[in-house]
Formats: sequence, C-alpha cells, structure tokens
Amino acid sequence: MADLDNLYRQIIMEHYKNPRNKGLSDDPGYVTAHIKNPSCGDDITVQSLLADGVVKDCRHDGHGCSICCASASVLTETVIGKTMDAARALAGNYLNMVSNKDHDPAVDLEEAAVFAGVRQFPARVKCASIAWQAFVRTIPEQK
Ligand code: ZN
Repeated sequence: MADLDNLYRQIIMEHYKNPRNKGLSDDPGYVTAHIKNPSCGDDITVQSLLADGVVKDCRHDGHGCSICCASASVLTETVIGKTMDAARALAGNYLNMVSNKDHDPAVDLEEAAVFAGVRQFPARVKCASIAWQAFVRTIPEQK
C-alpha cells in the first residue's frame, strides 16, 4: 500500500510540475468559474468550452498548493471529450470520494482516482475539491 501511495504522490507531483491545459482562453465561448480557498491560499479559475452537450475543452489557471494545482490539471484531462452529463456525474462522484461521502465505486474516475488518499487529510479535502467545484459551476444545470 505504501508503494501505491508513492505512485499516487508521483502522479500528483508530475501534474503540479507540468500542468496540462493551463492558461485561460480569451475566447468568449468559454464559461468561467473562480473559487478561492483562503485556508490554503489556493486560487483557481476553470474554463469550459461546451458544445453539442460535450466538454470540448477545459482550461485552468491560478496558484495554490500542489494538491490544488495538480487536481486542476487532472480535472481538465479527465473531462475533455466527455459529454456534459458524464462529466457532471464524474465530478460529483469525485467530490464525494475526496470528502469521504458515499460515492459509486463503479464510476471510473480515471487518473483522478489518485486523489483518494486525500480523504485521510481533512485539511486538504478543500484543496483537492475547488477546481472540480469550479468546473461543476461551468456546466449548466440539467433541466
Ligand atoms: Zn491547498
């Protein structure tokens, strides 16, 4: 289990050092949401480009701790190309998982599963959540 934790830590640090899809677009077609986590200094903006019910692109920018920045990077890679419904379900499941609430283990969280260990550190749950919460705000509610 220690090796698994180590692997997860490596993936998180790799995303922190080499964030994917970082930098905001000035295309007005993007929907933007911004969330701060004052307890840690995390400050993240997420943008989604939605068309035909699909997340065509997702971008992030901001600063914060390694968990926060890495989770934003993993978020973008995980949701791009998914339908809005699938992305919304995935994000809800992820947020429940990191905050140790009931979640559906049958939903494949893909690389985002590396943040499962955050449950053991309640102070870091918010760090791992805010990029995903911001993403959920960029997707219109279902009718
Ligand atoms: Zn943080």
